[in-house]
Amino acid sequence: MEFAYSPLLPTGPDTTSYRLVTTEGIGSAEGPGGPRFLTVEPAALRLLTDEAMHDIAHFLRPAHLGQLRSIIDDPAASPNDRFVALDLLRNANIAAGGVLPMCQDTGTAIVMGKRGRHVLTDGADEVAIARGVFDAYTRLNLRYSQLAPLSMWDERNTGSNLPAQVEIYADDPDGQPDAYKFLFMAKGGGSANKSYLYQETKALLNPTRMMQFLEEKLRLIGTSACPPYHLAIVIGGTSAEYALKTAKYASAKYLDGLPTSGSMLAHGFRDLELEAQVLELTRQFGIGAQFGGRYFCHDVRVVRLPRHGASCPVAIAVSCSADRQALGKITPDGVFLERPETDPARFLPRSARST
Ligand code: SF4
Repeated sequence: MEFAYSPLLPTGPDTTSYRLVTTEGIGSAEGPGGPRFLTVEPAALRLLTDEAMHDIAHFLRPAHLGQLRSIIDDPAASPNDRFVALDLLRNANIAAGGVLPMCQDTGTAIVMGKRGRHVLTDGADEVAIARGVFDAYTRLNLRYSQLAPLSMWDERNTGSNLPAQVEIYADDPDGQPDAYKFLFMAKGGGSANKSYLYQETKALLNPTRMMQFLEEKLRLIGTSACPPYHLAIVIGGTSAEYALKTAKYASAKYLDGLPTSGSMLAHGFRDLELEAQVLELTRQFGIGAQFGGRYFCHDVRVVRLPRHGASCPVAIAVSCSADRQALGKITPDGVFLERPETDPARFLPRSARST
């Protein structure tokens, strides 16, 4: 048999719209054997993280805001759905003013990075990223949620929202050796608590049983994590923790570019048909966007992963109404951050704009 390799999550090309943060703190150096290396100073990592934490606390993605507006415009939405959507749009408008964040639970800072093999730093990237988290949370009106365990029973707030969860992989992002790419998240307690792992078996892998299972488990999510949700379901996984991590990435739309069918390379793929079926299932629950209706979920992502023959982990996660995530990248052209929507008022219905 021939050797063949695929990443487990081949995410495809990056179509994100970015804004330039700075061109300071990056440079270029000749590496062994001739290729140019991208040099990144800690200050660039710190500034990018600081800006990212600011942006995701105050701004949302345009697609998310568009989904809120479409609830208001949907004649099939319940009055409760429309009330919640309008309230969330108004809230987004206040948050975009830059004083108050969109939610009082400003979350745990989570940063995932992929550093290309031709990127040089001082090696203490996690420290620079933590410093950026510190800068944002101590400068802005963001709540500190992290508790240091002083003993098994005693805890104290760290007063800075640190520690952050920082994970950096040695991986050429999008095949670019001189690029460093990031996913920034701030995960509130409510939505983090709605991450579930079920250790199932092959018996789940048929359409009837799967839908019964999902109906039972998705209802359990309830409304305490502030729907409408971006719901992610991962079926399979090389380990339980990988299934859960994949669900978190999928809820952030980080895996939207996955292939939509499987292959003998055993990579993950999105099942678009099951996504549509599950979205419809959630609309029939009647739970709606908190008080009854159709909009329990904005959308659904279903990712199928390879599995050990004796295991079938199923992971479920949501991104809540504080849909806080942003992509970042550092390339030879500069330091860039995903462009959020800075004028959410344009999504408000005309009748609500002056109130
Ligand atoms: S679930 Fe999300 S929107 Fe609700 S309180 Fe927590 S962070 Fe805020």
